[in-house]
Amino acid sequence: MRVAVVGAGFAGIATCFEALKAGLSVTLFDQGGGASRISPGFLHPFVGKQAIPDWENYHASYHLLEVAGQAKCCGLFRLFNHPIEREGAIWWGREEIEAHLPTCTAQGGLYIPDGLRIDAKRYLDTLLKICIDKGMKIENTQVEGAHLLSQFDWVFLCTGAGAAAFKHLKITPIKGQILRLAWPQAIPPPQIPIIGAKYLVMEGDTCLVGATYEREFADPEPDIAVAKALILPYIEALYPALKGAEVLQCLAGVRASAPGHYPPIICELEPRLWVLTGLGSRGLLLHARCAQELVRKCHL
Ligand SMILES: Cc1cc2nc3c(=O)[nH]c(=O)nc-3n(C[C@H](O)[C@H](O)[C@H](O)COP(=O)(O)OP(=O)(O)OC[C@H]3O[C@@H](n4cnc5c(N)ncnc54)[C@H](O)[C@@H]3O)c2cc1C
Repeated sequence: MRVAVVGAGFAGIATCFEALKAGLSVTLFDQGGGASRISPGFLHPFVGKQAIPDWENYHASYHLLEVAGQAKCCGLFRLFNHPIEREGAIWWGREEIEAHLPTCTAQGGLYIPDGLRIDAKRYLDTLLKICIDKGMKIENTQVEGAHLLSQFDWVFLCTGAGAAAFKHLKITPIKGQILRLAWPQAIPPPQIPIIGAKYLVMEGDTCLVGATYEREFADPEPDIAVAKALILPYIEALYPALKGAEVLQCLAGVRASAPGHYPPIICELEPRLWVLTGLGSRGLLLHARCAQELVRKCHL
């Protein structure tokens, strides 16, 4: 059976991996770009405002990260403004925050020892190489999708926000922007990534701060003025010493959000033409199991 996978983001490459595992012959088509490659790569199992644990998806993704040699837990600190208890996480109040994250003004949050921060580009490139070594072909080109049906038994569209081109798919494109700031030498950098409504993670002597959730946008390209207005007030409240820090870079990508944010969309658009999209802001958590489900569904 010959399969075309369109899109080389988290969803597409995981789908290639699963399809190869199932013994299918795979060709990957990709036009470049995508949200996955700009994602700062946070993975943990506690989802939504209520931090509901989703260990099943977490373990599936962790396993795929292991395959690519990228499964290294660094711990994540997730901000909360009310105390919360979760198995697999530890509540930190002011005392612990002062000890672990000096000068951070946060009042409390969950320390998640099993949290990861991966290098998304390295992960995707490694998984891509593993798939190529298993015989996958790759074409760096934009494709429309349906026309591939004449050459392939199945076509899997893993095109992220690009799937919006299919009008009957109810997905919402949500632009996300991230800023890179110079970290002020005078204050100790946080050793653990801080996540929440916004996040902050060190990269060398710079930090990445993000992200925006822009539902109304005319242009998917970086817009530094908008990014600064939406991100900096929150981050400066967390680390007042960041006020006036130099902005070195602005990155932007577009997530595809499914109705109600969850579950993602895995469906057959027309015979033999399948789509996997709507991973929203949880691409790393959801990609591995979604890819398994997609391949299993059409193999049945
Ligand atoms: C700023 C930001 C920060 C984020 N941070 C995190 C995070 O920390 N953790 C997390 O889990 N998630 C995060 N996300 C969400 C995550 O990035 C997405 O859920 C994930 O990237 C979706 O993966 P995907 O493969 O569905 O889509 P994408 O990564 O967008 O991939 C789609 C691919 O399809 C290709 N494509 C589209 N149309 C065509 C076509 N016609 N022909 C050929 N190729 C095509 C694109 O070029 C792209 O390579 C973040 C998103 C943003 C924007």
